[in-house]
Amino acid sequence: MTAASVTVLAGPTAVGKGTVSTYIRDNYPDVWLSVSATTRNARPGEQDGVHYFFVGPERFHELVEEGQMLEWAVVHGQNSYGTIRSTVEDAVAEGKKVLLEIDLQGARQVKESMPEAKFVFLAPPSWEELVRRLVGRGTESPEEQQRRLETAKLELAAESEFDVTIVNDDVARAAEELVALMGLKNDK
Ligand code: 5GP
Repeated sequence: MTAASVTVLAGPTAVGKGTVSTYIRDNYPDVWLSVSATTRNARPGEQDGVHYFFVGPERFHELVEEGQMLEWAVVHGQNSYGTIRSTVEDAVAEGKKVLLEIDLQGARQVKESMPEAKFVFLAPPSWEELVRRLVGRGTESPEEQQRRLETAKLELAAESEFDVTIVNDDVARAAEELVALMGLKNDK
């Protein structure tokens, strides 16, 4: 398959990858946003098949064993997340512009198997702002926040592995930069 129409968006924890993806899902139907499989439970408002395929650990393991994952990783030492290869291949074959929003470990695996994809790093405006966002969302315990900030330091150091950096200073602006980079008309 030709993967030139695949864009991978990665970046440190709490940088706003999910928010940028949601903005794109809501505003740019021409972007085919990959739906990952995960072992984590759905949060309120999340729908199976829309935000994730919520599969149990057993099914996830099967998908890995059967070689069906384009990439997968255990994220934040807790749950597994992965991209089902056939879903991406079908979308590419249909001529869609595909966006994968995944973590750094996954991005590195995609780079191995699909080097012609575009790799975009979403960066915070500053380290202080990243800390503020992580602490501000209040979804993690102080210990977990500390752990994620340690990971974020390593993740920030990986920026040079990417083709392009987009600074998430404003969600709409960052999303529009990404869409333009994917070669889609910016109609906002
Ligand atoms: P959340 O549980 O908040 O939805 O996502 C947690 C993390 O998992 C985010 O950093 C997100 O980028 C990452 N993630 C989501 N889907 C995938 C995937 O398919 N593969 C990988 N490697 N990471 C993913």
